[in-house]
Amino acid sequence: MEYENQYQHVAEAKYDCLLFDVDDTLYPLSSGLSKACTRNIEEFMVQRLGVEGDKVTEVNRVLYRNYGTSMAGLRAIGYNFDYDEYHSFVHGRLPYENLKHDHVLRNLLHSLPIRKVIFSNGDKVHVAKVLTKLGLEDCFERVISFETINPTNGINTSESFNLRESSAEILDANTCLSQSVFPETPVICKPFKNAFEEAFKIANINPQKTLFFDDSIRNIQSAKEIGLHTVLVGTSHRSNGADYALESIHNIREALPELWESDTKKAEGVAYSGKLAIQTSVMA
Ligand SMILES: [Mg+2]
Repeated sequence: MEYENQYQHVAEAKYDCLLFDVDDTLYPLSSGLSKACTRNIEEFMVQRLGVEGDKVTEVNRVLYRNYGTSMAGLRAIGYNFDYDEYHSFVHGRLPYENLKHDHVLRNLLHSLPIRKVIFSNGDKVHVAKVLTKLGLEDCFERVISFETINPTNGINTSESFNLRESSAEILDANTCLSQSVFPETPVICKPFKNAFEEAFKIANINPQKTLFFDDSIRNIQSAKEIGLHTVLVGTSHRSNGADYALESIHNIREALPELWESDTKKAEGVAYSGKLAIQTSVMA
């Protein structure tokens, strides 16, 4: 494994940013939030948008698969709704009480000598609640949430999308399920490249020097294509696109000890001043 040794050797200065997803990445899937979220989304679709109850699970699955989030899919197929209302409906009743302070992760994150940024498709209230419940609210330099990259709130979309929407009809469940090509969505979210590019701009991120953690293989593959180094969380099986795979975020030290080694390099006076200047300028 000559290549691996070589890799280990140069890895010390390889990263200047760690980019983290939140849901099912910073806490395990077994907490039940994800399942509850899906149930709430389906309820929103039936109660607020009139999607047929017997098809809602399948429609939601298709939209999620094609768009990265159900919301992005719903907007793409013609539904228009207030983003805040959607978020409070789907996240407002999540079992946040299942999340407990994670001292192990907190210590790991605090001991990492590299800047840490959150990049979530979730809204800012949800992300803040999760981080507070986990006791991680002071572990990150900044949070990039849904609102950060989607500053308008649904109905106030850009002119080009208004034009499209004015002539678009809502795809009903049957059409949606038989569709092979889907319309574009006005929502910017992972796994789309424009979401990553926006995040890079906002937080001064150099993808080539950034390690990205996410539980979604689709997000990981997209991240890899755009130049990020990638860690798939929630499985020890390293799928295509993932440079590393961690069963749990708690395994980060065992899998990536070199992340801590850069601390030694800093102490040795390696030229870090430029990077520190960037860090300061993007403090949230
Ligand atoms: Mg996730």
